[in-house]
Amino acid sequence: MKVFKFGGASVKDAPAVQNVADILQLFEGEKLAVVISAMGKTTNAMEQIAQAYWDRNQPLFQERVEERRAFHLDIMNSLFSDDNAPIFKEINDIFDSLLRHFDDLVSENFDFEYDQIVSMGEIVSTKIITAYLTSRSLSCRWADARNLISTDRKFREAEVDWELSTNHFEKRFLPHYDTVDIQITQGFIGSNDNSTTTLGREGSDFTAGIIAYCCNAESVTIWKDVPGMLNADPKWFDNTVKLDQISFREAIELSYYGASVIHPKTVKPLQNKNIPLHVKSFVNPNEEGTVIQESMTGDHLVPSFIFKMDQVLFSFTPKDFSFIVEENLSDIFDRLSKVNAKINLMQNSALSFSILVDAQKVKIPQILAAFEDSYQVKFNEGLELVTIRHYDQETIDRVTVDKDILLQQKTRETARLIVKQKILI
Ligand code: ASP
Ligand code: MG
Repeated sequence: MKVFKFGGASVKDAPAVQNVADILQLFEGEKLAVVISAMGKTTNAMEQIAQAYWDRNQPLFQERVEERRAFHLDIMNSLFSDDNAPIFKEINDIFDSLLRHFDDLVSENFDFEYDQIVSMGEIVSTKIITAYLTSRSLSCRWADARNLISTDRKFREAEVDWELSTNHFEKRFLPHYDTVDIQITQGFIGSNDNSTTTLGREGSDFTAGIIAYCCNAESVTIWKDVPGMLNADPKWFDNTVKLDQISFREAIELSYYGASVIHPKTVKPLQNKNIPLHVKSFVNPNEEGTVIQESMTGDHLVPSFIFKMDQVLFSFTPKDFSFIVEENLSDIFDRLSKVNAKINLMQNSALSFSILVDAQKVKIPQILAAFEDSYQVKFNEGLELVTIRHYDQETIDRVTVDKDILLQQKTRETARLIVKQKILI
């Protein structure tokens, strides 16, 4: 069995859904588990619905639910010639029950409520797509990921119970391949004790990894709007090159440093069972794409560049003139974890400790307040972090033209540079 994953962009409108069906038709006769995300920007829209629900803002809640209903009905009107097809009633019922949900008792846990509402995006998209594939005579069925992927109760960031999930896939999922070729299921969602849970934003890739792991799949293919994994984001870089073949380890390193093509959690379970991961274009499905597997032979062929813009560098100096030693470090990390700072890079000297964080993800005054009693804090905004895997001097020169280098860290494989645009006078 093979696992395929189609993200929101690949099912954003009716022609996109038709294209997914065309791709699946290329694999006729094969056993496929197909993981699908919510359509287009639906998850963002569902987040706003969850917020309006939580804020007890009924008019806004209703308006947003109706907007999402209309979005899906519009796609369905293009996909199905018969507007009496049962799928119309099914989807309308889901939106009606969401509307009625407003009057249910609200729990005290926003994350719980969020998961119950936001997960509907995936339920709706997979129902529509299953109905459409059926109308095109593909042999398929809809599978509810909530009966398959068991998690803990950490809503919005649930952890998978691998043993229980494997058990469910063996009993409730694999036997269906005796009668159908394709099973369609939702990315991003699971359950705990009848409550829906989600695995974190962008979690559908991870779902593909979970299914492959639990079912010992032959391979995973993530279908994207890019030809494969590129050596840099085309947004920041001209002349990108596709990586034909890289190792699991390299893929984990790249996604750890911020390459956004695959969700970082996806690769580990696949590496564990040595299941190859393909990244392919849904625009040109016959092209090769990138394959991520055990062998490291392809890793060094092309340097990869990862850019993180809009960074802030903080440095903390203990006011009591103590050196940066273990005690201050644990105190610094304590304070950082209290303000929920996610660190992209860190460095220490005898007298100060520096961290780099995304400006979007921190509140500068909050950090200042958390430290000012015992530390002198300085910060520098408007920085970029460039990570180069398999660097050489030429690649470093290439990314630092017109830039000042504030800090650099190098290991044998990886150079990381904090740079700032030179101010030209
Ligand atoms: N629909 C979810 C999101 O947009 C999960 C995913 O697409 O991976 O975050
Ligand atoms: Mg997505």
